[in-house]
Amino acid sequence: MLTALKSPNRLVLTLAVLTAAMLAIVGGSFYLAYTEVDRVTAERQASTVQKAVSSQSRRLERELRPETIWQDAYTNTAGHPNGDWMREFYGEYLSRLLGYAEIYVVDGEDKPVFGFEDGKTDDGRQFALDAPEVSDMITALRSPFGSLSPLVNVTDVDLGNGHTIQHRSIADVRLIDGKPVNLVVQTIVPDSEPTPALPAGARPPLLIAMFELDANYMGRFGRSIGFPGLQWTDPASLKSATGSALAPSPQRQQSTPVYSFVGQKVGVIAWDVDLPGSRMLQAMSGGFAIAGALVAGIALLTIVLVRRQTLQMHDAAKREAVLARTDFLTGLPNRLAFNEEFARQLDRVREGEDLLGVVSLDLDRFKTLNDTMGQQAGDRALVALSERLSTEFPECFMARTGGDEFILLVPCGVADHAAVTANRMRAVTDQPFVLPGRPPVMLNCSIGFAIAPLHGADEQDLLRRADLALHSAKKDGGGRAYGFEALMEARVARGLVLEAALRKVLATDGLEVAFQPLMSADGQNVLGVEALARWTDAELGPISPVEFIPVAEATGLIVELGETILRKAVRAARAWPEIGVSVNVSAQQIQLVDMVETVRRVLAEEGFPLSRLEIELTESVLVADEARAVSQIRGLQNLGVKVSLDDFGTGYANLLYLRQFGFDKLKIDRNFVRDLDTSVEAQAMVMAMITMSNSLDLGITAEGVENLEQFDFLRLAGCDRLQGFYFSRPLSADDLNRFLGGQRKAA
Ligand code: C2E
Ligand code: MG
Ligand code: MG
Repeated sequence: MLTALKSPNRLVLTLAVLTAAMLAIVGGSFYLAYTEVDRVTAERQASTVQKAVSSQSRRLERELRPETIWQDAYTNTAGHPNGDWMREFYGEYLSRLLGYAEIYVVDGEDKPVFGFEDGKTDDGRQFALDAPEVSDMITALRSPFGSLSPLVNVTDVDLGNGHTIQHRSIADVRLIDGKPVNLVVQTIVPDSEPTPALPAGARPPLLIAMFELDANYMGRFGRSIGFPGLQWTDPASLKSATGSALAPSPQRQQSTPVYSFVGQKVGVIAWDVDLPGSRMLQAMSGGFAIAGALVAGIALLTIVLVRRQTLQMHDAAKREAVLARTDFLTGLPNRLAFNEEFARQLDRVREGEDLLGVVSLDLDRFKTLNDTMGQQAGDRALVALSERLSTEFPECFMARTGGDEFILLVPCGVADHAAVTANRMRAVTDQPFVLPGRPPVMLNCSIGFAIAPLHGADEQDLLRRADLALHSAKKDGGGRAYGFEALMEARVARGLVLEAALRKVLATDGLEVAFQPLMSADGQNVLGVEALARWTDAELGPISPVEFIPVAEATGLIVELGETILRKAVRAARAWPEIGVSVNVSAQQIQLVDMVETVRRVLAEEGFPLSRLEIELTESVLVADEARAVSQIRGLQNLGVKVSLDDFGTGYANLLYLRQFGFDKLKIDRNFVRDLDTSVEAQAMVMAMITMSNSLDLGITAEGVENLEQFDFLRLAGCDRLQGFYFSRPLSADDLNRFLGGQRKAA
């Protein structure tokens, strides 16, 4: 279940990653496409700027051509240069109206004949300074092959007399005095005949004009070609201005270096560019961001929801698991939790040297507590007990495995520790519990324990053996803590054998009855007989009722056995009409069947008078179910049957308590009679029992009388009836007939 729940999580994660990857790929593709668009745009712009710069040179050449293909100009510059003319038409005109910064004229020998700078005539000194930058252009222009140079623009000027003259012009961008300039050099030629004819081989004068590419001009120039912010710039400052290429910024500075045709770097022109790719990217980035955020949000939300659901289911499963392992009343681990923990601790025991005690604790007479004080008080007592044990034995794992059953795991180094702890647990349980608003409650418990690995390697063996020890403790009257012993198992094995044999003997009607006389106090007369079950198995030999009656009780066979003995007893007793017959009935019989009805039916069937029957019950009948015991006793008495309390003195009840059950007679247990010889206390006890029963008008019998001393004591103390080997062992019906015959004869 939980593993299945993990996969939706994984699915969502995968989806989220795929979506993010798709977004990244699409975004990345857009980014690459648009930066490519930007790159191409920037390249185009750079080449446009370069072309514009060089076409500016062409424009200036065209502009100056009328000034150098001109009759007057030639006349006033060649031969005898006219300073006034040159100042007016070249200096003033070119600088003021056309904006040239410096204007020079050199003669055929390249000597300066005129200079104009900053609005005034110059003596040519400035030209001398500029000359190195200009000389290569003059050389190119003057070269005999100049007309072949692609740098030189050649125009054939028709002189109108069938002759033409060559006009040459060259222009370039140059760095002069650290300032970028357009430099134009043109030959000054006439445009008509005659004028002083040019001497053969003579070279025409040259006009040299410099046009400064200052910031003002560059701005205007930029605007005219649609590049705002066009300017010369320092390449170093440009780098930082361009910034990171990764950041899509449509407003960037683009630049391109400008070289003269001789390879001199004139400078770097920069301009503000409008990059369409970046603009689009920027326009789209908002959308991308929103789309990305949306997808991421949805993925995140789904993850959170699925995760929360998973966690809730996980928590629910966890809670369920805890609940399934918890006892609802005490909050202790239950059987399931115990099984798991037991397996874990056993694993540890198998690996190490330590021992593990398995203590099975069961309350004695817990049912009585529930019946007398109510279920709620019983529950509270169980809670109080579990709290007390948890506090007193924190090192032990403790589970409630049934109504009043607990199992504790006791880690121990030596086997003795388990025994000591088990006894301590019993003592701790025995301490009274004070429940609010109620009288203190006494709980008594029986404990059985087994030790791993001494008493078994696996859970089943250990639990079974701890339970076996517990049953032994219970059988011995409760309030005991027993460790497992091999003998217990042997007893169980014997029990199984006896059960099978008992079924057989009941089916084959093989049980017999012995009759032991109940004598008058003087020992002279037989007042009655006690019927005692006798069984001799073909294979197992004679088996005592002390052994097989508990087996019959434990297996429910006691019902059939009891009725059989009753029937046989009264059938035989029909032969002795002058005496009564006592039949033992065990607690289990009273619990399992209606003895009143059984007795009525059997005696009716056997034709035996009810008044001659006496039923012997033990205190265990009262312990099992008081109310039922009372109703059964009354029912039997109402039939006319006498009811006596057998084995009186061995239980815990006092006589005043027993009085309410209305027994007709008491039988002092034979253990007291046996001890009369040796124990003054036993004598006092027997005296007290006889005195009290006399005062309560109860008949009293003593069993187990074996010698004259006991007989004398009991007779003198005031017993009504006496039973024991001193008078007679239990006898077969025939032997009893003889015994009774002897009695009659004696009488
Ligand atoms: P119980 O009812 O107290 O029976 C008296 C027991 O004391 C008998 O043992 C009897 O043989 C024994 N006894 C009698 N006189 C003496 C004596 O002087 N010294 C000694 N040491 N013992 C003496 P038994 O027959 O072995 O029966 C033992 C117990 O088995 C009975 O004790 C009774 O509780 C139970 N039992 C016997 N027969 C039946 C039966 O048919 N039904 C039921 N429910 N229990 C029976
Ligand atoms: Mg008896
Ligand atoms: Mg008895």
